[in-house]
Amino acid sequence: MKNPADSKQVPASLYRQIPSVDELLGRPRLAELARQTGRTLLLETTRNVLEEIRTAIQRKPEAAEDAFEPGKIEEQIAAGVRRALEPSLRAVINATGVVLHTNLGRAPLAPAAVERFRQTATQYSNLEYDLDERARGKRDVHTVRLLTRLLGAEAAIVVNNCAAAVFLVLNTLAKGAEVIVSRGELIEIGDGFRIPEIMAESGATLREVGTTNRTRAADYEKAINERTRLLLRVHPSNFRVVGFTEQPTLEELVELGQRSGLPVCEDLGSGCLADLAPQGFEEPLAEASLSAGAALVTFSGDKLLGGPQAGIIAGKREYVERVRRNPMFRALRVDKLTIAALEATLNAYLRGALDEIPALRMIRISADEIGRRARAFVEKLRSELATGEVTLEIREGWSVIGGGATPQQQLATQVIMISSARHSAAQLETQLQAPSQAMPVVTRVEEDRLVLDLRTVFPEQEPALAAALCHALR
Ligand SMILES: *Cc1c(COP(=O)(O)O)cnc(C)c1O
Repeated sequence: MKNPADSKQVPASLYRQIPSVDELLGRPRLAELARQTGRTLLLETTRNVLEEIRTAIQRKPEAAEDAFEPGKIEEQIAAGVRRALEPSLRAVINATGVVLHTNLGRAPLAPAAVERFRQTATQYSNLEYDLDERARGKRDVHTVRLLTRLLGAEAAIVVNNCAAAVFLVLNTLAKGAEVIVSRGELIEIGDGFRIPEIMAESGATLREVGTTNRTRAADYEKAINERTRLLLRVHPSNFRVVGFTEQPTLEELVELGQRSGLPVCEDLGSGCLADLAPQGFEEPLAEASLSAGAALVTFSGDKLLGGPQAGIIAGKREYVERVRRNPMFRALRVDKLTIAALEATLNAYLRGALDEIPALRMIRISADEIGRRARAFVEKLRSELATGEVTLEIREGWSVIGGGATPQQQLATQVIMISSARHSAAQLETQLQAPSQAMPVVTRVEEDRLVLDLRTVFPEQEPALAAALCHALR
């Protein structure tokens, strides 16, 4: 058998037919492209394309004929340049109904937060400069005021994300010592955040107590010894143990902590600042954990809070200050853009303007309102499609908050179900998510039908969503 990669089989004359770099770059279209995108990128792309052609000829000399067509090579080069310049991180339409979708970037920012972000990003700021004292300041001051006020906390600091917050708390308070955690709370959250692993990296030793489904305060008490530094409670986030279960209340743990001289820290994960009880949710409020006596709470900025990616550590001054002094704080601190967006988001809470925060607005929309939007949307699609090959139906369904909040509790919604006589749901899904789409659309698929939940679609995205659907369904 011939070795297909054996270059000796290919006559040199074939290679000589490949147009030269200069010849290609002299063609009007590529010369114009060089003016737009710069010569370096074009040159590099051209060399790569020619290299690919040489390799292809080597593999299959008989297919060479076709490869020499300069028009075709030109097209390959232009496409290569386009690909190199396309942004990788792009906006998509989230029609899944999962409000805090980690794969889709969790919370979208409020317009006010974006504006503050923009102002701070494009200008100098008093990030670490005290304008009153005309002296060096601390970046913490910009968020501490609002966080302490909204949480009823003595002190608060912000780090890169909640994983960093948990790490820092454990590393500061329990390095080289023991932390007691219930076996029912040794969770893994998406993408490798596992409590036992974070614990190990922090230098603290995990002391598991109780069983997966039942742990009592007495179990913690029995495990306390001279090496114990902390009682840790972890919000189970994305799972629930149901049935024969028991966990001590935070109050019971705090009482035990007080008797034993140990702080209790609670990793809330999602960290709810607004009462969602009117929406039928029982997500613990960060404020309630602190008033129940937790020494520290940790939670994310981009889950239920609805702000930028961040990790918030709040609670008793003594503990927050110890965490602040940890040299690792410097490595995990947030940048000015996060501070700007977080401050503006917290400002909306202070004004009670919850609907300004997109994630909270989406959570609070009623199923009736989504139903109205869905009917108008379907009406519009029907008139644009004008074909009997597509079936559009509105049904009752469920949206999910996501982000580790309220895993079992769902939001009643009205979903649009779409099927086509011509394309399978999987084909439609592929088409809608194709990177070539101006605005890729992420949906759910059930029973070979596309399922769209407008809860997570911004009203101003509806025309783009309709256009993408019409294109895919034709
Ligand atoms: C989500 C979550 C984290 C991690 O938060 P990030 O901000 O993604 O780092 C930690 N703990 C709990 C309980 C969570 O739900």
